[in-house]
Amino acid sequence: MKKRKYIFLTGGVVSSLGKGIACSSLGFLLQSRGYKVTILKLDPYINVDPGTMSPYQHGEVYVTDDGAETDLDLGHYERFLNVNMTRDNNATAGQIYYEVIQKERRGDYLGATVQVIPHVTDAINQKIINVGEKTDADIVIVEIGGTVGDIESLPFLEAIRQFRLNHPAGDTLVIHLTLVPFIAGANELKTKPTQHSVMRLREIGLQPDMLLCRTDRPLPENVKQKIGLFCNVSANEVIDALDVDLIYEVPLQYAEVKFDELVLSKLGLEKRKLDIEWWRKKIARYQKAKRTVKIAICGKYVTLHDAYKSIMAAFQHAGMENDVRVELKWINTEDLNEKNVEEKLGDVQGILVPGGFGERGIEGKLTAIKYAREKKIPFFGICLGLQCAVIEYARNVLGKKDANSTEFDPNTTNPVIHLMEKQKSIKGMGGTMRLGSYPAKLRKDTLAYKAYGVPEIAERHRHRYEFNNSYRLELEDAGMIISALSPDGDLVEMIELRDHPWFVGCQFHPELKSRVAKAHPLFREFVAAALKNDTR
Ligand code: GLN
Repeated sequence: MKKRKYIFLTGGVVSSLGKGIACSSLGFLLQSRGYKVTILKLDPYINVDPGTMSPYQHGEVYVTDDGAETDLDLGHYERFLNVNMTRDNNATAGQIYYEVIQKERRGDYLGATVQVIPHVTDAINQKIINVGEKTDADIVIVEIGGTVGDIESLPFLEAIRQFRLNHPAGDTLVIHLTLVPFIAGANELKTKPTQHSVMRLREIGLQPDMLLCRTDRPLPENVKQKIGLFCNVSANEVIDALDVDLIYEVPLQYAEVKFDELVLSKLGLEKRKLDIEWWRKKIARYQKAKRTVKIAICGKYVTLHDAYKSIMAAFQHAGMENDVRVELKWINTEDLNEKNVEEKLGDVQGILVPGGFGERGIEGKLTAIKYAREKKIPFFGICLGLQCAVIEYARNVLGKKDANSTEFDPNTTNPVIHLMEKQKSIKGMGGTMRLGSYPAKLRKDTLAYKAYGVPEIAERHRHRYEFNNSYRLELEDAGMIISALSPDGDLVEMIELRDHPWFVGCQFHPELKSRVAKAHPLFREFVAAALKNDTR
């Protein structure tokens, strides 16, 4: 059997230090040395998955090929590692408790008192073992959500303590990501928050092996010595995690300070050759790109960019392949109307309407789409964006003034978007949408076919509503092209417009499959079309 190694990454002091990016970057470096890496995110909240949470609470819900609704950090893992994650790569406290309680109800515990220790902690450790076995990884990186000191993450930290007890010393590693702030008034880097955070970890029996310190300047040797002394590690185990402009620089910075080399040596793994030149070149070239292109994102969660993480990433990847910096202009569609559309969208070269739920902001989205269609500005509609493009066309081209989705108006006489047949009997909310990867067939001589260059694709979905086939002919006659269909011909997966330079809508979420190694073809082509439109 393979000797598998486990790296646990905890976070201290404050949230938002970038644990997901730290895990992805370390994972990428280890992978680039020829190791097979997988990453597991453990989330301490009680929701079974983030699928039922508002984007304001949680940001984007990241959907995997196998249809799991997961934490957005899985997006970073996929984008950095260029490997598909599955439902095994994310577990929440809610999911773990749910499983334990179901087992208890079945009588599987044979009369035992069911407790956090050992039943919940065993279930947590089983998830860690499971993902390693299923992916046949050499190294499993486990990211613990939340911040050390939170009540809800205690069972996870306790599980790690037990996991370490049950594994040989060199097979596991705990890395604590912490913050070393520079206090301008004192002209000093402060180590106390790190000391306290590590103290909390040690109280519960976890001694970190390495400290990864977020800082805006390199840590001087005396600061490392001090942190080491108080936190019971040596100064060389205190690693700088410097602030960078672009998250894709993080692995380069880690390689610079030899973070991955120390990890390998502590795990007793051979220091194989590191091959990241292609990444370094790609990032450097992107940062030097002289041209910029401005794209408007017209949605309702625009104050919270976390809700559109994968879209933002997909634009960076598309920028890399077009040698251009993509500047995003965030438009809240609740404030967009016919009167101010020119003022708000007059300076952009492309318009994107992303996915979403509910009626708020819909009229503004329709205004943005009408503007893009009439002014021949490249337009990209994703999921709800496609649905709105169909509504707009039915209203303003076919003249069906009350055309709508039954999601927003159940009584419309022109339900051009309606509930999918299979959704009609569903009552529960969690995990019940059409989720995950489904194939679609592309029509020849379309923008879609030109972008993908293949006749059949598979893309990830997350929706309940669909294009109403009763309106297909009428819309096609009026200039709409159905460019992709489900293989049985039943579900409209993509649309475009005949008399427009680049107007594309898709029912799936292409942003979830864009990678640093390869931008998604639709984003790549959308950015290329926007570039052509730079006379604006
Ligand atoms: N609300 C729409 C639906 O359920 C669109 C979903 C989305 O954009 N992800 O079909």
